[in-house]
Amino acid sequence: MKRVSILGATGSIGQNTIDLIRRAPERFDVVALTGGRNIDRLARDAIELGADVAVTAHDDLLVSLREALKGSAVEAAAGEAALVEAASRPAHWVMSAIVGAAGLPPGLAALEQGATLALANKESLVAAGPLLMRTARVNHARIIPVDSEHSAIFQALVGEDMAAVNRCIITASGGAFRDWPLEDLAGATPEQAATHPNWAMGQRITIDSASMFNKALEVIEAREFFGFRPEQIEVVIHPESMVHALVGFCDGGLMAHVGPPDMRHAIGYALNWPQRFDLPVEALDLVALGQLTFRAPDVARYPALRLAREVMERRGLTGAVFNAAKERALDHFIAHRLPFMGMAEVVEEVIARIEAENGLIDAGITLETVGQADHLARIAADQVVQDKY
Ligand code: NDP
Ligand code: MG
Repeated sequence: MKRVSILGATGSIGQNTIDLIRRAPERFDVVALTGGRNIDRLARDAIELGADVAVTAHDDLLVSLREALKGSAVEAAAGEAALVEAASRPAHWVMSAIVGAAGLPPGLAALEQGATLALANKESLVAAGPLLMRTARVNHARIIPVDSEHSAIFQALVGEDMAAVNRCIITASGGAFRDWPLEDLAGATPEQAATHPNWAMGQRITIDSASMFNKALEVIEAREFFGFRPEQIEVVIHPESMVHALVGFCDGGLMAHVGPPDMRHAIGYALNWPQRFDLPVEALDLVALGQLTFRAPDVARYPALRLAREVMERRGLTGAVFNAAKERALDHFIAHRLPFMGMAEVVEEVIARIEAENGLIDAGITLETVGQADHLARIAADQVVQDKY
């Protein structure tokens, strides 16, 4: 029996993970499930899967969680320290699917106890890539990517010599506004941005797909995880979302990973690695599909892609600043306090202000310095929004 925990169990990735576990209960023993505000779902799944503990991130929801778990053997806990404690409980495999930088401390705790970390939480790699990779190395723990593009790259690299790899190409659907006239983007609303043409995902990553901040995070993720140099990472628009990524070799060969846009493939691959098992993923009918198309992203439409390149040039804590500023800008956009194209302007301004005001960006990357950079960036983002919008 594989002992598994799911951080962010109540979200889109968490629920897809539970779907796979539910189909093979004889193979899995569930240790911990964590969630945020969705107490009913957290308690229901924890009871059904026989988890040892269910944790909500919010202290004020402990009483409701206890109430919802009443009569079951599942232990209830709440708060950030409880999330870390749950992630530290011995498990073979931990899914990191909390949204945002909040996923970093529990992800590190899972690596410290030597678990294999299935990483959906790309924000933790962007904010603290060297710390996460170092923690895995020191503890002989593994990280298996769950982001579909990175799972695709990971699979294309099996058995390959990294010295022979010279490029990777990450595809992007182009998000909700792919075909909108550029001038209409100024008036785009959060509701419009939260619909994705191909993938069913959480609200925040769906909006990040429309702005391409998601792709910007993924470019940095590819660098941090696989060690690609920035100029080796390319982004192409691929509206059908069937080719998830390609890896190029020095002999001119390209390995593409192709499949329907269903996250259960990448989650299941990480769950079963190094084996493969049947997954409830539709078989692709290439003839019915007919054609696959690719085009270059329009840089005026997607400033986030340019910002990702700038972050990679600066390195250090700039990733943490970039991610936190993006998270705050997204909060303001969702609250209708910031226009759609304002998100990239805020992020760019926050990086410039923090760089000008203190030397933090060059400090070493520890949980503490990442937390400080994250905090400063959020304050600066609020300030920029107040000053300019
Ligand atoms: P959702 O918003 O659907 O779920 C997020 C999860 O995190 C929920 O369980 C939520 O709890 C919990 N959560 C929210 N805030 C906090 C917090 N401050 N502390 C602890 N837990 C919190 O997101 P997704 O499932 O879409 O995405 C999860 C991660 O996976 C993100 O990093 C995303 O970028 C990545 N990812 C997602 C993909 C997808 O297909 N959805 C694809 C590739 C990557 P609750 O809902 O109970 O409040
Ligand atoms: Mg992705």
